[in-house]
Amino acid sequence: MANKMRNCPECGRLFIDTGAGMCSDCVAEEEKKELIVSSYLRDNPGSTIKQIYEATGIKEKTIMRMIRAGRFIGKGAITYPCERCGEFISEGRYCVKCTQELQNDIKKMSDVMNKKQQKTRDSKLDSRGMYSK
Ligand SMILES: [Zn+2]
Ligand SMILES: [Zn+2]
Repeated sequence: MANKMRNCPECGRLFIDTGAGMCSDCVAEEEKKELIVSSYLRDNPGSTIKQIYEATGIKEKTIMRMIRAGRFIGKGAITYPCERCGEFISEGRYCVKCTQELQNDIKKMSDVMNKKQQKTRDSKLDSRGMYSK
């Protein structure tokens, strides 16, 4: 895979993207921030992003990115709002309730799709039946 030149989303400088999504300076910076957040979480388990931001000065956006990258998952030490309802969670993107509701929605949607397919099949059978009369 060829490496692509692109602008670093953090500092705007051109760099070769090797998969980190940021230039090496910003990756190093991010790793430093990650250590700061990790050690803060060790001392203050169950902190919210806002509390971490207030204590460390690290931008909420940056902390969210670390969480999305799975940096603190499993430690149960951080809480952040569910992307759907804002409930505080410590793992994944949604709270348990929303995860269930989303799964139900997906199930409902596939049920509807199945019914639709069934219907078109039935109507085809009907018309065929009419013609044969
Ligand atoms: Zn950069
Ligand atoms: Zn939720």
